[in-house]
Amino acid sequence: MLAEGCGRGSTRLVCKPDARCPLSIESGLAWIPEHVVYVRSLVLALTFFCSIQDASAHDPSPGTDAAACVNDASWVAEQAPFRIHGDTWHVGPRGLGVFLIKAPTGHVLIDGGVPANAALVENNLRSLGVDLHDIKWILNSQAHCDHAGAIAQLARDTGAQVIAGAADEALLARGGRDDPQFADRFTYPPVRVDRTVRDGEALRLGDLTLTAHATPGHTPGNTTWAWRSCEDGRCLDIVFVGSLSAPDYRLVDNAAYPGLVDDFERSFAKVAALSCDLALAPHPGMIGFWERVEKGGKIDRTALVDPSQCRRYAERAREAFGKELATQRKAAASRN
Ligand SMILES: [Zn+2]
Repeated sequence: MLAEGCGRGSTRLVCKPDARCPLSIESGLAWIPEHVVYVRSLVLALTFFCSIQDASAHDPSPGTDAAACVNDASWVAEQAPFRIHGDTWHVGPRGLGVFLIKAPTGHVLIDGGVPANAALVENNLRSLGVDLHDIKWILNSQAHCDHAGAIAQLARDTGAQVIAGAADEALLARGGRDDPQFADRFTYPPVRVDRTVRDGEALRLGDLTLTAHATPGHTPGNTTWAWRSCEDGRCLDIVFVGSLSAPDYRLVDNAAYPGLVDDFERSFAKVAALSCDLALAPHPGMIGFWERVEKGGKIDRTALVDPSQCRRYAERAREAFGKELATQRKAAASRN
């Protein structure tokens, strides 16, 4: 999604799906007061970056433009993999959520990042001693280029089955074309889904149970994934929260997605009510991931355990959505 927070009136700056733009929901509003200096510098940097992206966003050439999906340098920045808790590992770039769940009967990957991330993720997996062919499933949270962009390549290289929310299957197969909000702006290599899931469906792989919670709105098949990981006898409910943002979305009279507002409202309530000891997210800023986990350049993963994160993210997203919806309804009423 576009440019969360990059819109600036008539001189709108164009970014990319799920952009970590300043003051955006997915950058984590709750973290801004403590990091105001950082945010100010980020505003300047991203304003410049968004300006650059504006040019490529208007590239009229058809087909997939892998570079156009990268809206933030952190999305392709290397990050050494590290354990989150128990069998759950961070294996993606620094700026996007890609996670591995190890299981004796075959491993699970959640999301793949932008198209350029396939090699980075595979290198991280190998560095953990993971045989790529032991990846059994690749789960997707949403059919946008910054989370599904590398999945076609990863599926090819691992032989894994791709599993996604039923309502995103067609959008994945189109490689992001004809998106309800972005049309053909953010395309990626088409993904063939091997298995679709519906709300509440549980997938079992040995002792591991992954539950799919449909959280539509951001995409029609946007899915929040939940599982339980144990380490040294401590078991935690881990939730990979699907994006609940609507950056520059058309919320009113959107013929491409008529039930969008109701879907978002149900998704806010659903995420807020989940049992969630440890939240993970497609974008680390959604849950203040790095601000909590990194201390003095070192990883302190214990700081990730916070049962309030899912609820707090849903509340922030709902508040931002409500304001934007009111603005768009007012504008629509004035036009009628
Ligand atoms: Zn997205």
